[in-house]
Amino acid sequence: MKKLALHWKIIIGMILGIIFGFIMNSVGGKDFVSDWISPFGTIFINLLKLIAVPLILASLIKGISDLKDISKIKTMGLRTIGIYIMTTLVAIIIGLSIVNTIKPGEGMPQNTIEKIKLKYENDAGVADKLTKASAQKDAGPLQALVDIFPSNIFKALGDAKMLQVIFFALFVGICLLLIPEEKAKPLVNFFDSLNEVVMKMVDLIMLFAPYAVFALMANVIIAFDDTEILIKLLNYALCVVAGLILMIGFYLLLVSFYTKKSPLWFLKEISPAQLLAFSTSSSAATLPVTMERVEEHIGVDKEVSGFVLPVGATVNMDGTSLYQGIAAVFIMQVIWPEGLTFTNQLVIIATALLASIGSAAVPSAGMVMLVIVLESIGFPAELLPIGLALIFAVDRPLDMCRTVVNVTGDATVSMMVAKSLGKLHEPQPKEWDDNYEKV
Ligand code: ASP
Repeated sequence: MKKLALHWKIIIGMILGIIFGFIMNSVGGKDFVSDWISPFGTIFINLLKLIAVPLILASLIKGISDLKDISKIKTMGLRTIGIYIMTTLVAIIIGLSIVNTIKPGEGMPQNTIEKIKLKYENDAGVADKLTKASAQKDAGPLQALVDIFPSNIFKALGDAKMLQVIFFALFVGICLLLIPEEKAKPLVNFFDSLNEVVMKMVDLIMLFAPYAVFALMANVIIAFDDTEILIKLLNYALCVVAGLILMIGFYLLLVSFYTKKSPLWFLKEISPAQLLAFSTSSSAATLPVTMERVEEHIGVDKEVSGFVLPVGATVNMDGTSLYQGIAAVFIMQVIWPEGLTFTNQLVIIATALLASIGSAAVPSAGMVMLVIVLESIGFPAELLPIGLALIFAVDRPLDMCRTVVNVTGDATVSMMVAKSLGKLHEPQPKEWDDNYEKV
């Protein structure tokens, strides 16, 4: 077991967790799982979130202060945003093409619709998404821009406001480049050392990953209670999964043609982050692992990964936007077919792009923003709870899958930006990194 590569250990943990969840479901052990197993998953997620902010801060400040040329920051910023928008548009177009070709929502039997309505229309989860969406909508159009600039850095750090932390780190990094070297050195050394410590923390936390994913998967399985509805929604779910697989294929093409690296090697090196994205449904919680994999196993320089990955975890959600395109059209096919116009589909492209930027990197955030996508095309407000009810039963598994794509997209773009800036090197894994025997 000790010699097994990390991703295999995690996969074994996941499979055992799924089996255990099913067994507990059938013997009435749901409470046992939520009381005694699931807290270990929560501890793991808490530990990852704990190190995310210090990691962004240290890696970005150290990375930027190593750059000798400030103009590179502008180039890096523009390229990152440009490629992020391009990949997100590709994702939405893939999603819309699939849903319009397969038409999973057409011909759904009326009694199935009634059954789903009855079960989920007044569900607390659906109501929660609607409330969160209306809070999000009430903020002004430029609020997202204002939110990037913190008024209190300790609050930004405490609330883990990623974009605010990135802004602060960039600001500090640039100022370190502008002051005399001997004055900058102590602070640069401090963040360099902090970066090493946090990277080591990632290694240690990952020792616990195979056990944590066991707990997380068992917890996911006990939440599934209506397999009949799940089967009825299979066509829709398969459309989303097919789109997500195509998107991964697109990333592999980018890796192969643009960065000239082997796609299989890339998949192998990034797989621990993908597996955690799948188990946690949160790109924010996965961020420390994504950063560790990309920097130490793929060879992206810190100043690129320290910027591109946290920005990506916050604003680049290709899996989410692909899902939003498919879900919006699927809901229309079932309950509002008159809304299925070409213009509305164009509006979906624009709003799903913005919605994925605005979605938080946490479980089921994509569904909250889906409400905003639907509202933007004039979807009748009274049908919204039914619309969400329709897709609610399969949202968690789809969330797990789309988070894998979100994380893979960020890693791909970080490689592309690094390559374009000459910052993609041969990785130098530390000797204990893969098997962790020496920890
Ligand atoms: N769970 C996704 C993420 O964290 C967001 C979403 O699509 O709900 O990346």
